[in-house]
Parts: sequence; structure tokens; C-alpha cells
Amino acid sequence: MREKLVAGNWKMHGNQAENKSLLNAVVAGVAELRGKDIAVCAPYPYLSLVQTMLRDTNIVWGAQNVSQYDKGAYTGEISAAMLKDFDCSYVIVGHSERRALYNEDSHTVALKYVAVQREGMVPILCVGETLEQRESGITEKIISEQLDAVMNMAGGASLGKAVIAYEPVWAIGTGKTATPQQAQEVHEFIRARVAIQNAEEADNLVILYGGSVKANNAAELFNMPDIDGGLIGGASLVATEFISICQALQ
Ligand code: 13P
Repeated sequence: MREKLVAGNWKMHGNQAENKSLLNAVVAGVAELRGKDIAVCAPYPYLSLVQTMLRDTNIVWGAQNVSQYDKGAYTGEISAAMLKDFDCSYVIVGHSERRALYNEDSHTVALKYVAVQREGMVPILCVGETLEQRESGITEKIISEQLDAVMNMAGGASLGKAVIAYEPVWAIGTGKTATPQQAQEVHEFIRARVAIQNAEEADNLVILYGGSVKANNAAELFNMPDIDGGLIGGASLVATEFISICQALQ
């Protein structure tokens, strides 16, 4: 049985006061949901606050990015060891916003994935196609390239300690969710692709869907056989929405 997971990706939103009230509401709202994995990935400056507020709760936390380097003269960067120092469980790597806006290529993403695992944390590796790529019929090719870059560097077995998030770029922040069938098709493809390298890891691999998941569409997505939860952007900033999405985990 795969553990199901809902992870919030706050992106670059919030301040201390807003984060405190959001966390207070979410902590209270999901307190009874024992046995479900729930995480929030906060902006770096708030990791200490998140660590303090979530320490004794059933919610774990993580970061949204990491340096590919261990230490050194990399002004403005944050290492995996620093994130571990704040007890992060998860680190998102390869989000499409980082690939598109900060020119992160799959090789860099793979280095970040390895850096996260080296510190004993779990990378949430994001993959996904643009609308243009989907319409050109190359979705599977794009996803394969993104996955292979990581598997070639880290090995298929590394996926035993990773989460994959399928996030079609055209569905992120657009209100245009992939249908459960569209998402299921790609999730099934990802699992099959991983199975070529390691059937056992493929079976246990948690694959999240991300892209305009809301309280009113979470359950039908999460009920698909290869969708093991969600990576939630905008709706993770609204306590009632995020709580309902967590409740939709079966
Ligand atoms: P939205 O839920 O806002 O579409 O964002 C999804 C996402 O990018 C999560 O990482």
C-alpha cells in the first residue's frame, strides 16, 4: 500500500502574521486526520516559524528549492544541509516555474535531487509538459526526458526515497485542471517508465498530481488508481480549501 500525501506549495506568498494564522487553522483542521501524510513547503525565511509551529503536529514541512552545491561561495543560495538543519522532510525540485523562469535544466534538477537525498530528505521531483508540447503529442517524450535525467544520475533505486509530482504546466495556476483521466494516463505512464528500471520501486512510488487542485476536484483526482495525492499551490493558502483537500485523501 502506498502512503498518500498532500503537500502544499506556498510559493512566494505570505508573511509572518498570515502564515501563523494559516498554520493555526490548518493544524486544527487536520488534527484528526491521523494516518494521512500532510506537508507544507514554505518560503525559506519562514522555515523556522513552520518548524516551531508544526513540531508536535501531524504535519511535516519542506522547502521549495535547494542549491545543487553542498557549501561554498554561492551568494544567496541555500544548501540541503541547511534545510535538514530546520528538520525539513521534503524539498521540491524541478518545479516548472524554476525550469522556465530560472533556466533550471534537467541536469541541474538531478543534482538538486541527489543533494536532497544525500541529506536524508525526500525530493518531490516535478515533471510536466507545456500546452504546446501536449498539443504536439510529445507529452510522454518530455516526461521521459525529465525522469531519465534523474534516474541516469541517481539510479532507479533512488526513487524508493522520492516522490514524483506530475504537474502539467498548462494546469498550474490557471484554474484549468487536468481531467482525472488525463492525469491518470500520465501517472500510469510514469509508473511504467520507472518499472522498466525497478518494478518494486515503481509499485511503491508516490506520484502526486499538481495543477489547480481545489476542494471541489480533489477527491475525483485522488481516487484514480495511480494518483497518490496532490501538490497544491493556490489552494494551500486558504485554510478551508487545504483542509478539505487533505480530507479528500482516502
Ligand atoms: P496551483 O495549485 O496554484 O495550480 O499550483 C500548482 C503547483 O504549481 C504546485 O506546485
